[in-house]
Amino acid sequence: MGMKRRDFLKTSAVGLAAPSALFSGVTIEPNMNDPLILSTWEHGLPANDAAWAVLQKGRSAMDAAEAGARVPEADPKSTSVGFGGLPDELGNVTLDACVMDSTGNAGSVAFLQNIKHPVSVARKVMEDTKHVMLVGEGARQFALAQGFEEMNLLTDESKAAWEKWKKKRREMTPHETHDTISVLVQDKKGDLAGACTTSGWAYKLHGRVGDSPIIGAGLFVDNEIGCAAATGLGEEVIKTTGSFLVVELMRQGYEPTAACEEALNRVIKKHKGNPDFQIAYIAIRKDGEIGSACIKWTFEYALARDGVNKLYKVKGMI
Ligand code: ASP
Repeated sequence: MGMKRRDFLKTSAVGLAAPSALFSGVTIEPNMNDPLILSTWEHGLPANDAAWAVLQKGRSAMDAAEAGARVPEADPKSTSVGFGGLPDELGNVTLDACVMDSTGNAGSVAFLQNIKHPVSVARKVMEDTKHVMLVGEGARQFALAQGFEEMNLLTDESKAAWEKWKKKRREMTPHETHDTISVLVQDKKGDLAGACTTSGWAYKLHGRVGDSPIIGAGLFVDNEIGCAAATGLGEEVIKTTGSFLVVELMRQGYEPTAACEEALNRVIKKHKGNPDFQIAYIAIRKDGEIGSACIKWTFEYALARDGVNKLYKVKGMI
């Protein structure tokens, strides 16, 4: 049946009314004067300490998140992030990172090699370019032009682990080689920001990029509602736009943990109730409520608030 343009416009206007009512969501009173930092995994503890020190100086959530993420990036014992990160199948350490601030601005780098602090390069992309994302050789050239030093990120230990893996070439999933550092921060003004950085899936195909540098997948910040970040199997996080989904669910009134669980439910359902991989989310709502959930096994997050920095265990949903 044909529809005249005028009728069509009328229908669309009515059609729009319902979603806008549905998505008007909750009014969230901002949490002021109670800064907090929420990070993934055990390496979140030293990351939180560094971020906390930055907040104590009265600096922004973005400054704190970046400072936090730089700690595991520089630590050769964090074998899933930055220097000392496990390489791809050819033995190259390739890094993904992103940042997002309280104004909704974002920057990211993917498939970056030989630069120790991808999170800071991502911040430079956000602040000093008109772009959001730089990848590979272009990202490396940009980093060098910005004064970042080039270095070999493959340590003797991660090289030895790669050589051992090469003999058997068993496919590994990210949960075996923990894991991305994501740092979410709410500063004294109640503003939110986040950073995310990883060497990704150990022994991945050369050129593989995960969720961590993808805004909306590995990280999302909406200063009206909250922020969320992911760790785990990046491919599945990308396919469900995970962190964006967690924030949008909070906008619709879901509690932070329920929002993380509902986002994971989509993945669990797609995999017939029993995925054989891990994904975990962390989230801060604008009022200072935090949440987290993971698909299976356990996950740990580090929370710093009220001067206490502690690791918490989350039990898997299935
Ligand atoms: N999400 C990361 C990736 O897929 C890995 C992880 O967090 O374990 O690259």
